[in-house]
Amino acid sequence: MTVYTELLPPTKSEKHGALKWEPATDNATSPFAGVLTLTGRRDHCRYRVEEHPADEPGRAFVLWKLDAGTDRTEERYGCFVAKNNAHLCECRGFTATRHCKHLAGLTELVGAKKL
Ligand SMILES: [Zn+2]
Repeated sequence: MTVYTELLPPTKSEKHGALKWEPATDNATSPFAGVLTLTGRRDHCRYRVEEHPADEPGRAFVLWKLDAGTDRTEERYGCFVAKNNAHLCECRGFTATRHCKHLAGLTELVGAKKL
């Protein structure tokens, strides 16, 4: 298993974001793609990433939280990485600002062809 680490582009609320990606060794027969760790100034959270068939052009993921994270009321987030860059996420950060760390992490991994 090859672990991939990368810094995330700085944002207003997070200047020191980073990700760690541990891909699943066999995802041919399961939606489980790997474990994503997102770290930031105040936060450190691991997610179990599943990929599901998308209805629109793009890729659909569900991030299941393995740690409590910043929003303890949520267990998972549906995220959509769109071909036309109209990405979507179910989290509060995205609802408020149209940006979030989940999409920052996923778009980085997709762009680097790690996911
Ligand atoms: Zn999000």
